[in-house]
Amino acid sequence: MTDEPDLKPETLAAHGGRTPDAERGDVAPPLRPSTNYARDQDYRQIGGQGGYSRADSPSYPEIESLLARLEGGAGAMVFASGMAAATAVWLSLAPGDHVVLPKVVYWGLRDWLLQFAANWGLGVDLFDQGDPAALARALKPGATKLVWIESPCNPTWDVIDIAAAAEAAHGAGALLAVDSTVATPVLTQPIALGADLVFHSGTKYLNGHGDVMAGVLVTARADDFWAKLRDKRHRGGGVLGAFEAWLLQRGLRTLYLRVGRASESALAIARHFEGHPKLAAVLYPGLESHPGHAIAKRQMTGGFGGMLSLRMKGGAEGALEVARRVRIFVRATSLGGVESLIEHRASIEGPTSPVPADLLRLSIGIEDPQDLIADLEQALARAAEN
Ligand SMILES: *Cc1c(COP(=O)(O)O)cnc(C)c1O
Repeated sequence: MTDEPDLKPETLAAHGGRTPDAERGDVAPPLRPSTNYARDQDYRQIGGQGGYSRADSPSYPEIESLLARLEGGAGAMVFASGMAAATAVWLSLAPGDHVVLPKVVYWGLRDWLLQFAANWGLGVDLFDQGDPAALARALKPGATKLVWIESPCNPTWDVIDIAAAAEAAHGAGALLAVDSTVATPVLTQPIALGADLVFHSGTKYLNGHGDVMAGVLVTARADDFWAKLRDKRHRGGGVLGAFEAWLLQRGLRTLYLRVGRASESALAIARHFEGHPKLAAVLYPGLESHPGHAIAKRQMTGGFGGMLSLRMKGGAEGALEVARRVRIFVRATSLGGVESLIEHRASIEGPTSPVPADLLRLSIGIEDPQDLIADLEQALARAAEN
């Protein structure tokens, strides 16, 4: 079934990228935890697969071919976490290479990269993602090997024009990698817009249930750089466990339903609270007032994602007061799960964080949106009584 070329992504995802096993007929995928696979008496590998699962896990091919098809790529790889996938990319660059990324980017990645680059001898320049001309100024033609962007980016949900970034990167001889964790393949197709590499923290929407850490890379071409990345996983060992792969495949089956619902609810919530007297701003790329709205309308299809931020009038104290009073939203980090989360990012990122102290980040889940709106309304009302 999944070999047919014209199937829609929703259909491919619902089937988890597989057809029932021909010999035993399992409809759900079997869990295969073995780390090693036996040879026959002629010393051939039984079952035609590799012998050791750091290099060739039988838990991966269905998930990886599904992800490659959903992203329109030539291949995909799963990793033990988003950071294991991301670090494989930077480790594949050579000392002396120059790389460029936006100032607002996943903070764990920025922190790790700045330290790694200093030790490894990579040149790094950060550009202002709010200025459309800033990326071109940061590029060093010939020296820049990789541009890494994120869109929409955390937690202001600024939108970067992926097609324009691809053109600028390629013009300087660099590859473009896109962290599409927040947009997911449901809402954005970076490879069709010119990206060379797509990254996901599979911990977020792809799995979607807050119970797996995973990372994903998808490539536009099966080229030498992709071969280097494969080597980083196989020999560096950032491999996903069999049970985690099984859960990820299970989560992927409902990806389109979950992301569609979260996007619709996030838009309803953003519209409801825009202009609310107790709020300084609602940041959501689906609102006409958002600076990235025009690009988002062009590059995101079917919705603007499940992430939004609220800026409070009472500064950090006002934000924490609201977070303290919610009843349905869970006060927790991460994003992209079935339950809605609320987080005061400035408290998490610490004093060097560029995130405004009055900002609360919301990850919208799949609950009834009216319940979520009512929860935020009661928290705002009770916070104001103090
Ligand atoms: C969580 C996250 C990462 C890191 O992924 P892990 O799975 O936590 O290692 C990278 N980018 C974005 C946008 C994320 O939200």
